[in-house]
Amino acid sequence: MPASPTDPIQRPALFLDRDGVLNEDQGYVYRWEDFRWIPGAREAVAAFNRAGWLVIVVTNQSGVGRGFYTEDAVHALHAAMAADLATAGAHIDAFYHAPQHPDAEAAAYRHPDPPLRKPNPGMILQALADWPIDREASLLIGDKPSDLEAALRAGIRGLLFEGGDLKAFLETISLP
Ligand SMILES: [Mg+2]
Repeated sequence: MPASPTDPIQRPALFLDRDGVLNEDQGYVYRWEDFRWIPGAREAVAAFNRAGWLVIVVTNQSGVGRGFYTEDAVHALHAAMAADLATAGAHIDAFYHAPQHPDAEAAAYRHPDPPLRKPNPGMILQALADWPIDREASLLIGDKPSDLEAALRAGIRGLLFEGGDLKAFLETISLP
């Protein structure tokens, strides 16, 4: 079962970028038909679930702001990911996405420096406010320097994932 935001005990969180960490980054993925899990991704999520970590996705989705797809499509894709993870005995506790972009067509998504958009730390800070997270024990995995900058600015240890098997990668990390 997913954790509750009102759990009294602080837990470490595994923050995961989405595209390039959980799924192959084919550029603006928004349809389940196009979604391909990174090898070992589901198994990695399951392992951290079992270890009592929160697992939280933080994903820039400027494709929304750019008008390529809607936020409903983002939510639908995340629901499909969740359903597929459930068949692997895994779950993501929360998804955060940043739809804004400086060049967004729609004013609602246009911002010169969107606070939620990595490398800004807004999504991580929001998760830290929403969930009982042990910040010092937490970890962010990203595939771009902007992911790691966001982690640094939120006071979270960040590590670069350069492809391969996500579970095998995480097994090489020394955890606190
Ligand atoms: Mg990425």
